Amino acid sequence: MSPTVIKDVPKQLFIAGAWQDAESGRTLAVDDPATGEELCLVADASPADGRRAVEAAVAAQSSWAATPPRVRSEILRRAYDIIVSRTEELALLMTLEMGKPLDQARGEVAYAAEFFRWFSEEAVRVDGGMTTAPDGKNRLMVLRQPVGPCLLITPWNFPLAMGTRKIGPAVAAGCTMVLKPAPQTPLSTLALAAILTEAGLPDGVLNVVVTSDAAGVVEPMLRGGQIRKLSFTGSTQVGKILLAQCADKVVRASMELGGNAPVIIFDDADLDVAVEGTMHAKMRNMGEACTAANRIFVHSSLAEEFAARLADRMEALTVGVGTEPGIDVGPLIDDTGRGKVHQLVLDAVRHGAKLVTGGELPDGPGCFYPPTVLTGITAESAIAQTEIFGPVAALRTFGDEDEVVAAANATDWGLVSYVFTRDLDRALRVSERLESGMVGLNTGLVSNPAAPFGGVKQSGLGREGGRAGMDGFLEYKYIAIPTGN
Ligand code: NAP
Repeated sequence: MSPTVIKDVPKQLFIAGAWQDAESGRTLAVDDPATGEELCLVADASPADGRRAVEAAVAAQSSWAATPPRVRSEILRRAYDIIVSRTEELALLMTLEMGKPLDQARGEVAYAAEFFRWFSEEAVRVDGGMTTAPDGKNRLMVLRQPVGPCLLITPWNFPLAMGTRKIGPAVAAGCTMVLKPAPQTPLSTLALAAILTEAGLPDGVLNVVVTSDAAGVVEPMLRGGQIRKLSFTGSTQVGKILLAQCADKVVRASMELGGNAPVIIFDDADLDVAVEGTMHAKMRNMGEACTAANRIFVHSSLAEEFAARLADRMEALTVGVGTEPGIDVGPLIDDTGRGKVHQLVLDAVRHGAKLVTGGELPDGPGCFYPPTVLTGITAESAIAQTEIFGPVAALRTFGDEDEVVAAANATDWGLVSYVFTRDLDRALRVSERLESGMVGLNTGLVSNPAAPFGGVKQSGLGREGGRAGMDGFLEYKYIAIPTGN
């Protein structure tokens, strides 16, 4: 029998303020990755439903843009309060559809809610300007206006926070939206749409389409000429396809894509801090995070001790069903995700890596994978150039600073890097040389709603969160005013 949280969440598409079935009547199943059992069925949108959602967003755009910023701000603030007051229900829902342990799901609920609080504060601070032209003959007035109807696409790994990180600034800026969540984890998004309605969001401002046909539903939206902006979080591979589709109608695009994060542990690092930070960077969300530690470079003088201490910590973690108490590591999202992780481990071992702990596929139901530590990773193994997306720590050694900076930068990705050192000069020098949008300095956690989150190279375009988070949803408009003198 489904828990109450599953029964309570809406299971239909949300278009123009109305919950409705897909036109085709089709549904898709949402499964629990810890048991493989079906949790419920959700309406499965077709391209026709997608078109209706876009039309609803377009119809609501001008009145929403004209809504006073304070009103928009207070809707976000009320939604923040509701989310916080329902932390337990939302966390349980997320654990059931995605697998992360309840404690981490509670953490994500708090993180997700904070985007609404942050952007409720930004909504009333959108600025413009008025200056005198250099020749003194014109006044130059600059406004910032909403870009217009947006398409938001989110992945399954942070089902609530990836939605609020986009909806928050879109609401604050006065944009309407169509949101397409990942089909594995639509329930958190549907619950969020219900909360925003309760908080007073007008009909048509947020529309949600869940679909098993992402390509078929999204492409006509991007090529249709009515969507003005795409905000995508997901893999680099899909991001490139969508950028090409955006080119057709010059749709503005923000991209939060994959990572291949280096962790660098210098010989002067505080080892306790480095082990703790690496655990956070590696094991948050079972390693299924774009910010996850992917390549761990340890100075050769510390390598043995660091590997032993990390392996002890990994072995002490409890793997199991995320809804049960005391669980540190839940299942991976599905069999495909788990199979990919296991293949990367086998390939690394074939290329000479040593398995210190883990690395064996467990029997039984659920997509579980044991916390794993590998040492002696070579640059040629696939794991050195592939986002692992699982609880596998891949260690290799280095000798000096130039060598490790070059190795860390030898990748097409550039989302986040982590540096552990007690030398302030080195900390700043290396942080500036690393080709990534973010650096964690003596910490394994960088995500913060008040900070500009995002990557360089093939990890993305634009930033989400912080003051910069508004930029992608606003356009400049310049008005020339001749003054005659
Ligand atoms: P994904 O396969 O790229 O999917 C992301 C979203 O795009 C899903 O909603 C997916 O729906 C949709 N999608 C897939 N193909 C599409 C297409 N042709 N047209 C339109 N939409 C399409 O990524 P994922 O496996 O869900 O998520 C993991 C990836 O996200 C990792 O690479 C991770 O690093 C990245 N990520 C990045 C950040 C960041 O902030 N930089 C944050 C979280 C995750 P379907 O599942 O139905 O295909």
